[in-house]
Amino acid sequence: MKPLFKNYKTLKATLDKAQKILLLLDYDGTLTPIVAHPDLAVLHPSMKAVLKKIAKKDKIILGIVSGRSLKDVYNKLKLTSKGIFYAGNHGLEMKTGSKIVVSPMVRPHLKTIRKLEKLASKLTKNIPGAWVEDKNLTLSVHYRQCKEKDAKILEKSFNKLIKPWLKKIRLTTGKMVWEIRPPVKWNKGEAVKWLIEQYSNRYTPLPIYIGDDRTDEDAFEALPDWGVGIYVGQNNKSAAKYKLKSVPEVKKFLQLLSKI
Ligand SMILES: [Mg+2]
Repeated sequence: MKPLFKNYKTLKATLDKAQKILLLLDYDGTLTPIVAHPDLAVLHPSMKAVLKKIAKKDKIILGIVSGRSLKDVYNKLKLTSKGIFYAGNHGLEMKTGSKIVVSPMVRPHLKTIRKLEKLASKLTKNIPGAWVEDKNLTLSVHYRQCKEKDAKILEKSFNKLIKPWLKKIRLTTGKMVWEIRPPVKWNKGEAVKWLIEQYSNRYTPLPIYIGDDRTDEDAFEALPDWGVGIYVGQNNKSAAKYKLKSVPEVKKFLQLLSKI
């Protein structure tokens, strides 16, 4: 990975050459800092302002790709400018304009997800700081507010609970969170590929993807060679081409983008 601002000249040349840019952004940890509870991850007005500006640009197609439910991520941003699209649950549900698309792949698995919601909630109820976020098509079991000792207890009982279900679901781990998803081959990478394809008969946009977490690595890997992956954070290993250190640096980059 190259530090983005030190290499901005090269990147700027690529941006200038592009006919259209497909700008795909993760939400938590990318547009807002990671906070104690996902409800507290409020978009800063200055970040919202720059996103609004970008959404108005003809050259840029703006999309938000989040692990949150579609409803949740939409309500967090409330950017209604037409042309912005939202992908929730890692792209299993998408919204462009007023059209909402839910992947038919997930429907047969919803019963299992509902059952596990009940079981996991029973478990977290007894552990201070742990909770289950019900995202309808998927579940997140959070433990970022747990004391270390409680997190260990939770991990043990959660592993026990989930073991018999592992053939029926897909389990992934993020920052102090387990994600329970339907066992379909779908991730942010599949979502990104699908989105790029939606435009391919009209033009070939330059895809840019910005994200901070493990699930974003799928998206970086799904980008074509000429795509631009930008990792946000302190890691040194990522499939992204460029690196930004923090959410304020993301904002700085978006401000530059809003002026091209
Ligand atoms: Mg994130």
